[in-house]
Amino acid sequence: MEVIVIKMDRPCIRCDFCVPVCPEQLQPQQLYAFSRAREHEQAQRFDLVQCTECGACEAVCPSELPLLAIFQSEKRALEAQEQADAEAAQWKQRFARHQLRITQNALAQQERKLEKLQSKARDLAEGKRISKPAVAEDPVAAMATKTPAQIQAEIAAAVERTRARKAALQAGDSGKQKS
Ligand code: SF4
Ligand code: SF4
Repeated sequence: MEVIVIKMDRPCIRCDFCVPVCPEQLQPQQLYAFSRAREHEQAQRFDLVQCTECGACEAVCPSELPLLAIFQSEKRALEAQEQADAEAAQWKQRFARHQLRITQNALAQQERKLEKLQSKARDLAEGKRISKPAVAEDPVAAMATKTPAQIQAEIAAAVERTRARKAALQAGDSGKQKS
């Protein structure tokens, strides 16, 4: 890395001789002050980057200030800062993208959970309708609404059904024994 040695014996006397000779219409005396003070933002604002390093200002400076060397050094500092800013912006952007991915993944996970819960809720609701036990008829209450004749007829029918079932079972048993 090139080392720039800046020798400053005399101060800027603010004669402004350097101003009219600058082909870029810059303010060399201001650029000199900002560069020496390391006021990068100000040097940038006064367009130091436009300096072509022609040396015209230095040539007319009665204080024989090393303007060129100072400007070169400050330009390098600006470049380094610009690069650092660009890198920082890049990292910031990467971090933002990373955060966005994390948020999107978390959201997708939440959505999947929500879908599962909704599906379970639907199943549950349907299951309740299917497995909901039918209200059993109260036999005593049912009897109370019938006439004695109806009750007798139902009992007779039930007895008949029982007999028929018994006979069918017996017939089945004897059939098996024969075979
Ligand atoms: S060295 Fe830069 S500031 Fe000085 S006269 Fe040339 S262009 Fe202007
Ligand atoms: S010519 Fe030199 S002393 Fe005069 S204002 Fe410019 S930098 Fe300062």
